Amino acid sequence: MARLTGSVCKLCRREGMKLFLKGQRCFSEKCGINRRDYPPGMHTRPRKTTDYCVQLREKQKAKRIYGVLERQFRKYFTEAVRQKGNTGENLLVLLERRFDNVILTLGLAKSRFDARQMIAHGHVQVNGRRCSVPSYLVRSGDEIQVVGKEKITKKATEAVEGNKGQAMPAWLDANPADLRGKVVQLPLRTDVPHPIDEQLIVELCSR
Ligand code: SF4
Repeated sequence: MARLTGSVCKLCRREGMKLFLKGQRCFSEKCGINRRDYPPGMHTRPRKTTDYCVQLREKQKAKRIYGVLERQFRKYFTEAVRQKGNTGENLLVLLERRFDNVILTLGLAKSRFDARQMIAHGHVQVNGRRCSVPSYLVRSGDEIQVVGKEKITKKATEAVEGNKGQAMPAWLDANPADLRGKVVQLPLRTDVPHPIDEQLIVELCSR
């Protein structure tokens, strides 16, 4: 399973905004953007901004927020084109339906990395069966539960405590006390909380 490695704060600095990839640290003074509010790398003089550059940055931002690499992102785009309706909206809905994203949104993990690890190590069940694939696309009616040894449930409970007060989108029903959640319906474009301009991504990927 390929994944992003290296400093994730650099990804935020490159996009010039917080992507919230490190859980609670992102809300603290230690946030990389608070400390170094400029792009990473040696060559930091302003670059020319072309249409292509703007579109590329939007695509990279979406990939980084959802922790998806290029090849998988292209697969999502192909699927979004194949589906009926607006391609950009289909793309964001597909990303939002990823299993690791759902665990994070339910507040059962502190960060996307934690969510992926819990899933990959087999500590999350879907409809009573273990599912160890972070890219699994949840369906309406799926019931999700964190299971495992005390260490795992303790970690999930800590995440729930830390995420208390977090707004829950209408398409998910959370039961944090039991470390459970349910997909009530598939998400809509309006349920995507991230500032992504999907039209720019469609323009780039359709070239
Ligand atoms: Fe981004 Fe979080 Fe690092 Fe801040 S702490 S730069 S929001 S990953």
